[in-house]
Amino acid sequence: MVVASCVWSRDLVRGLGTRVLLENERGYNTTFTDLDWALAMPVGFADHGLVATPLVDGLRVGGAVELAKPETAPNFDRAKAMRTKMRRYVPSLPEGGKEWMGRRPSTPDSLPVISLHPGDHRIVHAFDHGHLGLTLSAVTARHVASLVAGRQPDIDLEPFSINRFQ
Ligand SMILES: Cc1cc2nc3c(=O)[nH]c(=O)nc-3n(C[C@H](O)[C@H](O)[C@H](O)COP(=O)(O)OP(=O)(O)OC[C@H]3O[C@@H](n4cnc5c(N)ncnc54)[C@H](O)[C@@H]3O)c2cc1C
Repeated sequence: MVVASCVWSRDLVRGLGTRVLLENERGYNTTFTDLDWALAMPVGFADHGLVATPLVDGLRVGGAVELAKPETAPNFDRAKAMRTKMRRYVPSLPEGGKEWMGRRPSTPDSLPVISLHPGDHRIVHAFDHGHLGLTLSAVTARHVASLVAGRQPDIDLEPFSINRFQ
């Protein structure tokens, strides 16, 4: 069994007899697909905590960190606040757009958990990628494949062990 269930991994591993320190950093974005202009490249507004990213079919304005319990209802005022800030730079940014909220499972040391269960090697952990889940997914999958197959992983996975939280 591979435990790879974002913030819900915290409760799952507790049920399997271990523990992990994990918080839920939620973020928001708005996607516009009906613009008649496009950004040539992603633009970050560091002072405002938002990024405008060109997509194949539009523009995404997103960012923010909100600490909240996994099942708390989204607060889309946060997405609206980013659109308002973006309009200071691009006044023609329309109203509307498709709002989205997502979750980033984050450990205090900002490292993922990639390891065998200490008491049952049929269980593999592969979660807590914080802000870099897309970036790190392929390399984590390679390590998980090694653990499942009983092969020696090609790096030392000790820093990523769930044992650091026991
Ligand atoms: C605002 C925001 C910005 C981001 N920016 C970046 C970025 O710049 N670069 C980057 O690389 N990544 C980025 N990410 C991605 C982020 O790092 C990942 O979303 C995060 O790491 C979670 O990925 P995951 O694959 O672990 O979880 P998810 O993709 O959420 O997948 C977990 C899955 O587990 C399922 N699940 C839950 N409970 C159970 C259960 N009991 N049994 C079975 N399945 C279950 C859920 O339904 C879900 O499908 C961003 C995310 C957000 C929200």
